[in-house]
Amino acid sequence: MNEEKTGLQAKLTPRLARLEELAYNFWWSWHRASRDLFKQLDLQLWATTRHNPIRILLETPSENIQRLTSDPLFLRDLDAVLMELDKDVKNGRPWYVQQHPDLQQHTIAYFSAEFGLHTSLPIYSGGLGVLSGDHIKEASDLGLPFVAIGFLYEQGYFRQRFDASGWQEAIYPPLNLAEAALRPARCAEGEGECLFTLRIGDRDVLLKVWETHVGRTRLYLMDANVEQNAPWDRQLTARLYGGDQEMRLQQEIILGIGGVKILRALGYNPRVWHINEGHAAFLCLERAREYVAQGLSFAEAQGRIRAGAVFTTHTPVPAGHDTFDFGLMEKYFYPFWPQLGMSREEFLGLGNHNDAFNMTKLALLLSGRANGVSAIHGAVSRKMWVNLWDNVTEETVPIQHVTNGVHLPSWTGEAMHRLYRKHISPDWVKHQDDPLMWARIEDMPEEELWQAHVAMKRKMLSIIRERARDARIQQATPPDQLLASGIFLDPDALVIGFARRFATYKRAYLIFNDIERLKRLIHDRYRPVQFLFAGKAHPADDPGKMLLQYIYNIARNPEFGGRIAFVEDYDMHVSRYLVQGVDVWLNTPRKPNEASGTSGMKAAFNGVLNLSIMDGWWAEAYNGRNGWSIDAGAEYEDTNWQDGADANALYHILEEQVVPLYYQRDRDDVPRGWVAMMKEAIRTIGPQFSTRRMVKEYTENYYVPALKETLALEKS
Ligand SMILES: *Cc1c(COP(=O)(O)O)cnc(C)c1O
Repeated sequence: MNEEKTGLQAKLTPRLARLEELAYNFWWSWHRASRDLFKQLDLQLWATTRHNPIRILLETPSENIQRLTSDPLFLRDLDAVLMELDKDVKNGRPWYVQQHPDLQQHTIAYFSAEFGLHTSLPIYSGGLGVLSGDHIKEASDLGLPFVAIGFLYEQGYFRQRFDASGWQEAIYPPLNLAEAALRPARCAEGEGECLFTLRIGDRDVLLKVWETHVGRTRLYLMDANVEQNAPWDRQLTARLYGGDQEMRLQQEIILGIGGVKILRALGYNPRVWHINEGHAAFLCLERAREYVAQGLSFAEAQGRIRAGAVFTTHTPVPAGHDTFDFGLMEKYFYPFWPQLGMSREEFLGLGNHNDAFNMTKLALLLSGRANGVSAIHGAVSRKMWVNLWDNVTEETVPIQHVTNGVHLPSWTGEAMHRLYRKHISPDWVKHQDDPLMWARIEDMPEEELWQAHVAMKRKMLSIIRERARDARIQQATPPDQLLASGIFLDPDALVIGFARRFATYKRAYLIFNDIERLKRLIHDRYRPVQFLFAGKAHPADDPGKMLLQYIYNIARNPEFGGRIAFVEDYDMHVSRYLVQGVDVWLNTPRKPNEASGTSGMKAAFNGVLNLSIMDGWWAEAYNGRNGWSIDAGAEYEDTNWQDGADANALYHILEEQVVPLYYQRDRDDVPRGWVAMMKEAIRTIGPQFSTRRMVKEYTENYYVPALKETLALEKS
C-alpha cells in the first residue's frame, strides 16, 4: 500500500471508504450522480480544484466526512452510485458481451501519445488526445475488453498566459502525482511496482508504469522520470511532443516498443493492436521481433502483424506526418534489424518515403486495416498515399474512414441532460445512438429548450467572470486585459464562439478580414454580435503565436468595446463550458485541412448551432436545417483569394441569416426559428456523431474482423 492510499483511508470512515475507489476511477467524471457526491462533500472545493475528487477528498475537513457519515440522504446516494459503478465495471452485460460472447477474452490494445480524460490529468494537447480519452470511455461503456497505453507527462498540457504585449507564455506546472488518479502498476509476476528496463539505442532506460482506471478499462502510462535514470533520460517523458527529432524518436520507441513489452509484463496478450496516429507505429516492429524470435521469417511475421493491426491516421497535411532521418534511425535501430533477419536497406525500406523514415508508411504497410477520421479525410488520405502500393488506384487504396465522435455523457451540460431525461428518455444515455428515440425532441416545449440554453450560457459567463476576478486579485490584471477577458459580454446578446488550437490553417483571423464590416456587426445597437475566442498555440509555433497576439490585442482594444473576448488557458475544463454556453460555434479551417474536428459535435449536442466551412465532419452532418455552411461557392488556388471569398461568405451569412434568426423573438422572448434549428441539430447530430456510433463501427468493421483473422492464423 502506498502512502497516499493509507492517508486517504485513515481519513475516510469505513462507511465512506469506497469514495476513494470512486475518485480513482474516471468513471465518476461522466456520471452525474457521482459528480454530485463530490459536490456534496465540498462545493467550494469542487470549484477551486476544477473538479478533482482526489483533491476534494484530501482537502475536505474531517468534520464534513463525519457529518456525511451519518447523513442518510448522502449514504443513500452513495450506495446508489456504488451499485451503478459495480454494474458498469464488474457485473452487467454490456453491448460487446451480448454481441460477441465468444470473443470476450481477447484483449484489444489501444496505443496513443496523448489521452484527454479530464483536466486533472493534463496528458493531452488537443483533439487527438480528447478523442483517445473519449474512445476509451466509450470502450468501457460498451464493454470491450480494452486496454490503453500512453505516457505520463509530468509537465503535460501547458498553462497559457499573455504578457503585456499579448505574446503567449507557456507555463509548465509539474503534475502533482498525489493529486492525480494514478497508482503505480503491478507486474503480473514479481513483487511491488512495475519498473521496466527498455533498451533505447546504446543504453538502458528504466520506465515506471502508472495505472489509471477508466470505467472497466485500464490505461497504463509510462514514465521515465525515475531516480535511477540519467538526468537527460528523466526528461524523455516530461512533455508532449517536446524537444527535437531525436527526443521524439526516443519517445516513439518508448511508446511503440516499450508499450508492447510492458503490456506483456503486465500479463496482457492482445489480439488486436490499434495504432492511434503514426506515433505508435513502432509497435509493429516489436511484434515482428517477437515473431521472428519464435522462428518465423519476417514475411510470415508480417502477415500475422497485419492481421491484428488497426491504424488510424489523423493528418491531412503531408508535413504533419512524423518522419526521421535515416542517420537517426540507424543510431537507434542498428541492433534491431538483425533481430528481424533484415539488412539495413530492407529495414529502412519499411519506412522509406522521400528519403526519410516515415511513420505513417510503416503503419500503413504493417496494418491490415487503416482509416481516416471523416469521409473527406479518408479520400484525402487515399490520394496522399496511393504511391505506396503498386497496382492500386486512388479508389482502391486500402484506407477507409470512421468519422470521429464525442462521448456524449462527458460533454452534455447539466441543464441539457435534465431536459433529455425529462423529454427524450430517462435512459437516453443507454439508447443514445437510436435516431428514433431522438425524434421525440419534436415534442419538447420550445420555451424549456431555450431556457436550458440560456441557463448554460449564463453559467459560462459567470465562470468567465469568476476567472477574471481571480486573476485580478492574484495578479492584479491590468484593466485592458480585464476587458479582453469577457467580463463585458452581454448574456442577452448573440455570442459566437471560436475555440481550438491556434494552428494557422484553422484561420482564426478570417472574421477580421474586413474590420469595418466586423465593427458594424458588433456595434449594432439593437442586434449586437459578440465573439469569444480561446485556444493555445504550440509553444514552438511562432506563426500561431503571432495570430494569438493579433487577436488578443484586438480583444483589449477599446474600439471593440469588450465585445470580442479572449478566454485564456483553453483546456478540457474551459472547453466544457464554452461548447455548452455560446450560441454559435464557428469553424473556419482551410479545406481540406480539418481531418474531422470534434468540438462542433460537442456544441451541437448542447443545442449550440454550428457555422462552419464544409470540411471534416461538418460536410457529413450539415443538412441545410441544422446549422449553417460557409460556402464561398468556388475553390481557389490562391490562399489569399480563398480567404477573402470565405470571409465574404461568412459576413454575408451572419448579416442575412444568423443575426436576424437569433433576434427574431416572439412575445415570450423565445426565438422560435432558432430553437427549431437547435432541435434539428440535436436530433440529427447527437446519435450520429457520438463515440457510441464510432466505437461500434470500429468494433464491427475493424476490431472483430482483425480478431477473427488473427485467431484463424493462430490455428493454421
Ligand atoms: C474537443 C476538444 C478539442 C478538439 O476540437 P477541434 O474541433 O478538433 O478543434 C481540442 N481541445 C479541447 C480542449 C477539446 O475539448
